[in-house]
Amino acid sequence: KITLDRITKKFGNFTALDNITLEIEDKEFMALLGPSGSGKSTLLYTIAGIYKPTTGRIYFDGRDVTEVPPKDRNVGLVFQNWALYPHMKVFKNIAFPLELKKAPREEIEKKVKEVAKMLHIDHLLDRYPWQLSGGQQQRVAIARALVKEPDVLLLDEPLSNLDALLRLEVRAELKRLQKELGITAVYVTHDQAEALAMADRIAIIREGKILQVGEPDEVYYKPMYKFVAGFLGSPP
Ligand code: ATP
Ligand code: MG
Repeated sequence: KITLDRITKKFGNFTALDNITLEIEDKEFMALLGPSGSGKSTLLYTIAGIYKPTTGRIYFDGRDVTEVPPKDRNVGLVFQNWALYPHMKVFKNIAFPLELKKAPREEIEKKVKEVAKMLHIDHLLDRYPWQLSGGQQQRVAIARALVKEPDVLLLDEPLSNLDALLRLEVRAELKRLQKELGITAVYVTHDQAEALAMADRIAIIREGKILQVGEPDEVYYKPMYKFVAGFLGSPP
């Protein structure tokens, strides 16, 4: 369980996150939904430990991790522009987090193959990223985030560079994997339909504040603010 307790993040005198309190349950798929500039990525990177909150605390299963660096938080990260290492083959790209941890060779081989198989990219391990389609590159980025078997998967608009059809396909697959592996997912998007389709719960963010948190049906049919209704396209 992830607990965000009154998180504020300032850049200079600009407040990007304003007193955010949120609990994310184990194995839950939580979408952070909001317009551009609302603070979604900032919140995700704060959970990852890339940003330290200006005030407030973060707990993983009750343990205060506010001062714990990203590499010791056991989270997998998938970024918006999924930057793979261009000079490394797919195998090496996926293996990289395990090599950093100095895992034994056989274990690396086994885990990379396992996770590549799950994402249907096991036939691509010997290629370079530029020899892959966008959707395949995206799967490699997800594989790289999963290979360490993280407790938490943090995704920042991971499908935004894919065409509509591929989005639907990778969306379904991601969701299936998340449930199968029993991973907690925090998924940043500004796509209402995506959040409504994928999430167990949605947190709606605007100007650094969480306006409403709830199951898709609840936020859609019972928006607590005009802004939420407008943003989700709720029926009047
Ligand atoms: P988008 O949907 O466009 O990705 P977002 O909701 O992810 O938007 P953030 O990237 O979290 O938005 O940014 C929230 C606000 O904080 C923006 O006004 C942004 O300019 C500002 N901001 C983010 N990171 C920094 C930084 N490192 N330094 C200064 N300001 C920042
Ligand atoms: Mg962002």
